Amino acid sequence: MKAAKIRLYLEHPLGEGQTIPLTQPQAHYLFGVMRQGVSDAVLVFNGEAGEWRAEVIEAGKRGGILQIAEQTAPQRDPPDLWLMFAPIKKARTDFIVEKAAEMGAARIIPVQTEFTNSERIRQDRLQAHAVEAAEQCGGTYVPEVSDVHRLDRMLADWPEARQVMFCDEALAGRAEGLGRDLPRGAPWAILIGPEGGFSEAERARLAALPQAHAVSLGPRILRADTAAVAAMTLWQNSLGDWT
Ligand code: SAH
Repeated sequence: MKAAKIRLYLEHPLGEGQTIPLTQPQAHYLFGVMRQGVSDAVLVFNGEAGEWRAEVIEAGKRGGILQIAEQTAPQRDPPDLWLMFAPIKKARTDFIVEKAAEMGAARIIPVQTEFTNSERIRQDRLQAHAVEAAEQCGGTYVPEVSDVHRLDRMLADWPEARQVMFCDEALAGRAEGLGRDLPRGAPWAILIGPEGGFSEAERARLAALPQAHAVSLGPRILRADTAAVAAMTLWQNSLGDWT
């Protein structure tokens, strides 16, 4: 077996000796696009059971079979962090999902806010972006991408233990960083608004939520996609799995 370079997410139980049939798109990718063949090795993960090395034992145009050799990495789940953001234009929304998966979000939730442009999302496409990002970044976990949820409904029924890092552009330039004595190891959510920002009603609702912490992301107004990456960096560095 040659050294494995390609990583593939499979919705299949993984264990030593297990054989796994490939779907047509997987076979097309592995054998057509990536030019792999019988006896080549690939790394596979299913989001729950770590990473495993597998050998191609059958390769065809419409399918193929992998056989699992051994485990190469344990399962690593990200911290319990949700990234909530108001969907923007397609390419920028794709970017946010890809980056959130790389940066270690456990769940990605597009939210409809008062000033959200009615951009529609394709949940299945966004989920596929999260899978690709996990394959690419060496992760063993794939965050679930939800369908669009309404922010007001979510806030009305907000889980008691989950803290919110509320990125409020109205605080731009003020010294309101992510506080020092915030609960570590707790469930968290980052909230990023749309191009139009948050409404005063949304601000009032968040101000009344004890779990919400309004945070500034510096003196400049960032675009939502930049803000999402900046907020995740800040959170991971102070409360997440970077340190
Ligand atoms: N149109 C708004 C800006 C929206 S920016 C205005 O001009 O006021 C999109 C989102 O990114 C915001 O809702 C917020 O969640 C986040 N964001 C951008 N810059 C920020 C900053 N300096 N501090 C905190 N959040 C910021």
